[in-house]
Amino acid sequence: MDRVLVTGGAGFLGSHLCERLIKDGCDVLSVDNYFTGRKENIEHLFGNPRFEALRHDVTFPLYVEVDQIFNLACPASPVHYQFDPVQTTKTSVHGAINMLGLAKRIRARVFQASTSEVYGDPEVHPQPESYWGKVNPVGIRSCYDEGKRCAETLFFDYWRQHQLEIKVVRIFNTYGPRMHPNDGRVVSNFIVQALKGEEITIYGRGEQTRSFCYVDDLIEAFVRMMRSDKDFTGPVNIGNPAEFTILELAEKILNLTHSKSKLRFLDLPSDDPKQRQPNIELAKDKLGWTPKVALEDGLKETIAYFKKVIA
Ligand code: NAD
Ligand code: UDP
Ligand code: UDP
Repeated sequence: MDRVLVTGGAGFLGSHLCERLIKDGCDVLSVDNYFTGRKENIEHLFGNPRFEALRHDVTFPLYVEVDQIFNLACPASPVHYQFDPVQTTKTSVHGAINMLGLAKRIRARVFQASTSEVYGDPEVHPQPESYWGKVNPVGIRSCYDEGKRCAETLFFDYWRQHQLEIKVVRIFNTYGPRMHPNDGRVVSNFIVQALKGEEITIYGRGEQTRSFCYVDDLIEAFVRMMRSDKDFTGPVNIGNPAEFTILELAEKILNLTHSKSKLRFLDLPSDDPKQRQPNIELAKDKLGWTPKVALEDGLKETIAYFKKVIA
């Protein structure tokens, strides 16, 4: 039986991953400081003898014995990662150093949740892994973007220098149940606003695009990546290539919720990427993976979740 450490285990993606790993027969240790994660996300696992949760900040060293490490700890919503930007960079960089140091000591395979933000505001569209990105190093998104880029650098240096088995995935916008109602990301914001009959906050003119992946598809890719051949390090893009403007997303959510909410146009935050769409040929080839859940179907599940949360 594999003993698996999941940092950020009480977060949106982390909690789904813990659940999946337990189903697959693993022994799971969640490590989280509950900055954006919640015990509610994992409380259904508390009675399970295969599950343990530890309150810990990954910027401090951690001594445990496991076989695999999934490093997901890091706030992902711009609102939350900009709240304490210095801590965001520390979480990515010191967190990566500690998880890599841990992996080196116990010779564990280690996985990094990187991000499409490494491409910044991309000039190449859709984005293949070979594109190095266009990132502002001194802007309000830099703590996250550059922190994640530095974490990738550390992963590849521990791989070259210490022969660690690394797995790096670049996650594109993912949504689903267990996003925090105040998460601040676009899908949760729009659904909560539509359900409450509040104005839908469109930043800019809503012409910027994103490609949205449903959480179940993403977790399947994580598991396949962790089990993939030792020589396949990534970085590999994981996301759903179906691309939508933010206005199209708002319309879909208004239709699915039968909401009468009006649109409200607000200023576009600085450095907000204009377009984002993954090229997923590498994931198809190396992992035999493609996303299966269409946006409408995933949104229906997510809306059902938020209806319960709001009630
Ligand atoms: P989330 O905010 O729900 O989860 C992050 C978790 O990390 C939370 O439980 C939080 O409490 C925990 N955390 C934050 N700082 C920590 C620290 N210093 N020590 C310990 N725990 C800490 O976000 P998510 O969407 O689940 O994202 C998970 C990972 O995936 C993040 O690394 C994020 O950058 C990455 N990612 C997510 C997306 C997406 O669309 N969801 C896209 C790209 C990358
Ligand atoms: N580390 C950790 N757990 C371990 C081993 C190491 O948290 O089981 C941390 C340790 O505190 C160190 C970091 O990982 O700061 C990097 O470890 P590494 O061995 O690569 O570097 P060094 O200890 O030589 O600085
Ligand atoms: N956005 C928006 N209204 C909101 C939240 C976000 O129009 O209430 C826009 C945001 O400006 C960005 C896109 O939706 O262009 C996706 O934002 P999110 O914060 O979800 O993730 P990002 O991809 O920017 O990290």
